[in-house]
Amino acid sequence: MKVAIVGAGFTGLSVAYKLTKEKITVDIFEKEKSLGGLASSFSLPNWQNPLEKHYHHWFTNDSHALDLIKELGLEQDLIFPKTTTSIYYQGNSYPFNSPLDLLNFHPLKLSSRVRTGVILLYLKILPKVWAIELEKFTAYYWLEKWFGKQSFEILWQPLLLGKFGALASKINMAWFWARIKKRTMRLGYLHGGYQKLIDSMAHEINQNGGKFFLSTSFDSNHVSKYDKVIVTAPTDYFLNTFRNFPVEYKRRLSQIPHLHALNFVMITKKKFLDRVYWLNINENNFPFIGVIQQTNMIDCSSYGNQHITWVANYLPPNHPYLKMTPDMLYKTYLPFLKKINKDFDFQGSIINCYTFLGKFAQPVFPVHYSRVKPDFITPFDNVYLANMDMVYPWDRGTNYAIELGYEVAKMVTRES
Ligand SMILES: Cc1cc2nc3c(=O)[nH]c(=O)nc-3n(C[C@H](O)[C@H](O)[C@H](O)COP(=O)(O)OP(=O)(O)OC[C@H]3O[C@@H](n4cnc5c(N)ncnc54)[C@H](O)[C@@H]3O)c2cc1C
Repeated sequence: MKVAIVGAGFTGLSVAYKLTKEKITVDIFEKEKSLGGLASSFSLPNWQNPLEKHYHHWFTNDSHALDLIKELGLEQDLIFPKTTTSIYYQGNSYPFNSPLDLLNFHPLKLSSRVRTGVILLYLKILPKVWAIELEKFTAYYWLEKWFGKQSFEILWQPLLLGKFGALASKINMAWFWARIKKRTMRLGYLHGGYQKLIDSMAHEINQNGGKFFLSTSFDSNHVSKYDKVIVTAPTDYFLNTFRNFPVEYKRRLSQIPHLHALNFVMITKKKFLDRVYWLNINENNFPFIGVIQQTNMIDCSSYGNQHITWVANYLPPNHPYLKMTPDMLYKTYLPFLKKINKDFDFQGSIINCYTFLGKFAQPVFPVHYSRVKPDFITPFDNVYLANMDMVYPWDRGTNYAIELGYEVAKMVTRES
């Protein structure tokens, strides 16, 4: 059997890893010149390690990713350092890592803090079989009803608005549940970055006979050369590349909105955030949603003693920021970055800035999403689809990309 895999992100790599282990002939097509998709990296000459274009970490319960790291003998490089997550609200930064932090979160009145803690605990212990029922509610409705107006308006609404903009009120509560359920206090990273895991998977795939075709966009003319084709690229690509879809199938999949991720990376001499790794912006008028200080997770010696800050954004495909140069984006963000750290010497400290765009990086899950969620099986014989629109209710992540890749590989192997 000869299989084509479209896309060499974590899903495509995981399919290839499993199939080549089974001695199945695999060709992997990747339109970019490097592997890793949304989890790919870049590097600078004086750095010891590459850096993800978009911030990445694992949770302690990301079992598929952690098992794979062990299987590939990279366990000694895996770390779960102590990091701080905070909330930026009305000019102040509040730690938000533990129940104690919530209790000390003074913008909420005490009764609201207690109520928030109880509901968070409820969501944390609610099992998936029941939580999926929450998809019939919008997160807006459910959060305001159960957390109360104050907690909704200060804690949750700004996060939903920041991430989903005009689509925020459409997000379903099962997705929100998954975010709370999944989150762990410790966050993990690999010395050498995600690239180390990607390289290790690619090495195994090559050793087992898999072939990579980089800078090669797969198109429907390639299909006839293979017994099976597994598409791991975004749904949008699938719908625009393959022809003659049944009308209803195309209509169903076209309904899934996606946002692009835009990350602005500042390389600086000094840290922008003093101690905080992850700063959520809980302000409705900021032009970005979070600031992540990588060098509060990983020592700056990995990056030639330079410091790394991502300024994070998710935007609809037609948003003007997506066309901005790093310089234009810097000018747009600067007044707001100054609010976060008014003492930071931007002129003296900034070495360079980059922007990275992750297309179709965030599917948007409205109420009753499970009715439109795509399947592996497509209308075409021997063509399968496996991408991040399917990991629902979980939010997309490399852990689920690995799990998805294994599942579709199992299905294809069974059918061969
Ligand atoms: C801002 C951001 C932060 C994130 N943070 C985390 C995190 O902290 N932890 C975590 O685990 N995950 C995180 N993720 C999610 C994680 O990166 C993704 O879930 C995962 O990488 C998805 O892998 P994938 O293979 O399904 O998709 P992708 O990575 O999108 O891979 C699809 C591949 O298909 C290729 N492709 C598209 N069209 C074609 C074509 N015509 N021919 C050939 N190839 C094609 C693309 O170039 C791409 O390489 C984050 C993502 C973003 C955007």
